[in-house]
Amino acid sequence: MRVTAADGGIVVVGAGLMGTGIAHAFAAAGHAVTLVDASSEALAAATAAIRKILADGVSRSKISETDASAALRRIATESDLAGVLQGRDPSLLLETATESMTVKLDIVRTADRWLPDEAVIATNTSALSVTEIAAATNRADRVVGMHFFNPVHKMKLMEIVRGVATSDVTVARTRAWGDSIGKTSILVNEAPGLTTSRMSALMGNEAMYMLMEGTATAEDIDTAMRLGFNHPMGPLELGDLTGWDTRLAVLHYLHETLGEKFRPCPLILKLVKAGRLGRKTGWGVYQYVDGQRIPGSGLRAR
Ligand code: NAD
Repeated sequence: MRVTAADGGIVVVGAGLMGTGIAHAFAAAGHAVTLVDASSEALAAATAAIRKILADGVSRSKISETDASAALRRIATESDLAGVLQGRDPSLLLETATESMTVKLDIVRTADRWLPDEAVIATNTSALSVTEIAAATNRADRVVGMHFFNPVHKMKLMEIVRGVATSDVTVARTRAWGDSIGKTSILVNEAPGLTTSRMSALMGNEAMYMLMEGTATAEDIDTAMRLGFNHPMGPLELGDLTGWDTRLAVLHYLHETLGEKFRPCPLILKLVKAGRLGRKTGWGVYQYVDGQRIPGSGLRAR
């Protein structure tokens, strides 16, 4: 199955970090995109961020100036979802609003009411249940997870998440949308942490246990995974980038749903209590000054 720009526009709901990247990806691939957010500041920030991604692309000869301008012209921004849907006939609505079930249910109920029957509702949720989101609509077979990675314009993977009722046709259409923006998709039957967050949480937790037990230094644990397995980043530097508070929330959820092997390492609890959340607070496992890591600053076991 292939989709083209002629297959109807895409509505992206939520113009935060992910919505910005997703709107850019679809527009750059030729789709007409309406980006919707409750906040006008978020829409303005998203437009500025998309301009910057495109300008960087032009300066690195990844896209021509003409194509970049055309991509920008394909994106409309709006704040009233019901109004948007009454005036257009999109084939896909992708919600990527705040990670809250209440927020998401409100959006999909509005979408279900106004979208054409054949349109698909996709959610970019990292952890919430696609099945539960689908059950709030009258089109559960046409509700699916489309899980992207940050930054969207650099990361090639898209996880397709099949809820209990998601149909094969919807999965095929979702894969075609992913193909049309150059993503490689994998199919996951809904499960906590999907494939990526589940494996990454486990590896980060294990790395913290090794650090706590004094198996090796933080620098050496990260070097092991970078040079031994060709990971672009070690698990401890990745945790610093993601934020140990976010990591801890994911581990709590996976521990609750999948069991003992996801019990958060006590060292993560300690770091979070100390406010050592990672890059965003200037220190986590490592210390940072002006965004640059201080050599030799890795946390030592004691
Ligand atoms: P964000 O906080 O940057 O953006 C969320 C946006 O949703 C905000 O601009 C907010 O104004 C908007 N919003 C809230 N309620 C709304 C409503 N009712 N209607 C319209 N807009 C509304 O969040 P984010 O990091 O972009 O994450 C968005 C979704 O993507 C979440 O479900 C998250 O779990 C998922 N996700 C995030 C990442 C990541 O690395 N940040 C990766 C994959 C998936």
